[in-house]
Amino acid sequence: MWYFSDEHRMIQETVRQFSREKLAPKIEKLDAEEGFNRESFYKMGELGLLGILVPEKEGGAGLDAVAATLAMEEMGAVDASTTLSYLAHTILCVNQIAKNANADQKKKYLPKLLSGEWIGGMGMTEPGSGSDALGMKTKAVKQGDFYILNGTKTFITNGPVGDVFYNYAKTGETKKDITTLIIDKSMVGFSAGKKLSKMGMRASPTGELVFSNCKVPLSQRVGQEGESVKMLMQNLDIERITISGISLGIARSSIHFATQYAKERKQFNRPIGSFQQIQEKLTEASAWYEACRTLTYTAAKMWDLGVIKDREASMMAAKAKLQSAQMATQVALDAIQILGGYGYTREFPVERYMRDAKLMEIGAGTNEVLRLIIARHMLGNEVMDSV
Ligand SMILES: Cc1cc2nc3c(=O)[nH]c(=O)nc-3n(C[C@H](O)[C@H](O)[C@H](O)COP(=O)(O)OP(=O)(O)OC[C@H]3O[C@@H](n4cnc5c(N)ncnc54)[C@H](O)[C@@H]3O)c2cc1C
Repeated sequence: MWYFSDEHRMIQETVRQFSREKLAPKIEKLDAEEGFNRESFYKMGELGLLGILVPEKEGGAGLDAVAATLAMEEMGAVDASTTLSYLAHTILCVNQIAKNANADQKKKYLPKLLSGEWIGGMGMTEPGSGSDALGMKTKAVKQGDFYILNGTKTFITNGPVGDVFYNYAKTGETKKDITTLIIDKSMVGFSAGKKLSKMGMRASPTGELVFSNCKVPLSQRVGQEGESVKMLMQNLDIERITISGISLGIARSSIHFATQYAKERKQFNRPIGSFQQIQEKLTEASAWYEACRTLTYTAAKMWDLGVIKDREASMMAAKAKLQSAQMATQVALDAIQILGGYGYTREFPVERYMRDAKLMEIGAGTNEVLRLIIARHMLGNEVMDSV
């Protein structure tokens, strides 16, 4: 990409090497056993990746959304699961604390989150509210110097292994009465609930967060009571831009693997790559990947330059994620087809790429919800008010 700086290329190379050395050797076993590459987080901490967007004066790397997306693409090409856990830690928890928390909260949480000693996550989704995120029911009621928190979050990336959660709760009766509370494992009344077994992203632990009369000191509140909706939305935008990097990584590996295979596998005494139907799959995949790559990094660059804000930022982020996610699933499916029976077995990684890619069409906003965001921008509230 023409605007990748030397610093961007350095990050790309660093993450490529890290992924080759620390992620590649472990992912197959972790995927099979639904494990977690805990050690990789200490190494990411050493490399400065855990605070990739955090300003240098706060202990981070002070890089931009383009760099973060590049990191996601490089890691995602090798191990999309650990990359998803990295995203939840870095973009959804660490970056939100760095952007929105006060000095005391940053002092309490950032150092150990940046070093990898603590694992972070973000709690928004609940059993009854997924796409309708503002319909959450988890309630925080003020009592003296504490909030008493009750409710359950679900589908939380790093839930089963996390130490710190950037968590949203209702503090009033309207949809917009949402407040952020930083929760940590030490709080009485908080527990990690059920771990969920999944089709893909199996080495990224997902589970519930359960709050049962959990006593949360008022000092854990981020910003003002009932004023978190804007922060929540901005968090979703940067999440959608950077998570698109994971889709790009999965697609790139799928294309690479399928291309190599098409050169080597012979049927009817010819490499299968000589058949036009195989060429069509490979060339469409390659062109769609490049188109999504351009869209995604353009969205990241626009975000960095500040030329997109509010609804326009949401629309660009939605477009990048919608297209990259659909592309990754289709490209991974086509890679399986190119490998034939071997593609369907666990002897080759392409079936894992497909299982992982499918999540990209669901997490951080489903395809359908992203289309609604784009439609609202195109058609206006008058037409879209009913949804
Ligand atoms: C592996 C994984 C990791 C996740 N990590 C996190 C995390 O770290 N933190 C967190 O808070 N959440 C997380 N999530 C939750 C994720 O964001 C939600 O699953 C997602 O937003 C969809 O919500 P839902 O699953 O409840 O589906 P629902 O909202 O119930 O949707 C079901 C179906 O209905 C469609 N639908 C819903 N509303 C509309 C509409 N208005 N128009 C058209 N179609 C509609 C959806 O697109 C979907 O196809 C994770 C999910 C998964 C699977």
